[in-house]
Amino acid sequence: MNLCDIRTIRDIMSIYNINFRKEFGQNFLTNRTVVEDIADSCSDTEEATILEIGPGIGVLTQELAFRYRKVIAVEIDNGLIPVLKYTLSDCPEGVVEVVHQDIMKTDLHALLDPYFEQGSVSVCANLPYYITTPILMALLESGLPFESITIMIQAEVADRLCAKAGSKDYGAITAVLNYYGTAEKLFRVSAGNFLPAPKVDSAVVRIRLHKEKPYQPKDEDTLFRTIRAAFEQRRKTLPNALSAGFRDIPKETLTAIVEACGHRADIRGERLDIAEFTALADRIYEERQKRGL
Ligand code: SAM
Repeated sequence: MNLCDIRTIRDIMSIYNINFRKEFGQNFLTNRTVVEDIADSCSDTEEATILEIGPGIGVLTQELAFRYRKVIAVEIDNGLIPVLKYTLSDCPEGVVEVVHQDIMKTDLHALLDPYFEQGSVSVCANLPYYITTPILMALLESGLPFESITIMIQAEVADRLCAKAGSKDYGAITAVLNYYGTAEKLFRVSAGNFLPAPKVDSAVVRIRLHKEKPYQPKDEDTLFRTIRAAFEQRRKTLPNALSAGFRDIPKETLTAIVEACGHRADIRGERLDIAEFTALADRIYEERQKRGL
């Protein structure tokens, strides 16, 4: 059954008496080449397990099932569970497991630990736009050693994830992401390749997670707090922005810390890459320790 065919999609939805649910960001892919390209990009090995978030009616799930050893597909919409049972019935036996859950409430360790014991695990998702960043952060912060995360997201968000330090698209999410891995934009997908068509274009981004993090901060929380502070007051100089985020350290001390890291006092936080944020956060952490904070 061709799940990229618009008439087939409409027929399935009519038989199962379901509608596209906007609150779950349901825009289903209708371009076979795009679906195949995403599935191909998910892992370097066919022995991989793939966590798919939001299978919808299963268009991507089917392709994944013929490429990889195991596919765990987590879908929030209970109306789609019987549909998936039907559309995935032709997949190789025992490969796909559909889990009816909200990915944000899923215990990822409990679900995936057994698969990490068997080999590499990667993530694949055409993500609902409204929840892209929380899902991505939950995956990264889980500490699970995913090989890669291949996601379809709004084109504008893709530009942000892949931006270079100092560019207009560079933001807190870029810096945090660079701590966990490296992102590359694979290709752009115009809005006409979805049913219903969203208002904006999308892009596919692959994040390869560092096996060993190249930057080891003295304290992770201080690193994330430093990045947040730098971007919350983006237009301000770095010492001013930091001073709003670390009220317990005098501004002169923060200025001295910024200068000791080799920056001018009038630099803006958006110019710092993850290595520079780590060095800065380490000095802030030491200063807080010294002050008993
Ligand atoms: N993978 C399908 C495709 O490419 O055509 C559907 C993609 S659609 C953009 C997003 C899917 O994620 C929908 O099936 C939606 O119901 C599901 N979804 C939305 N929020 C979710 C959540 N919190 N947990 C799991 N699935 C979710």
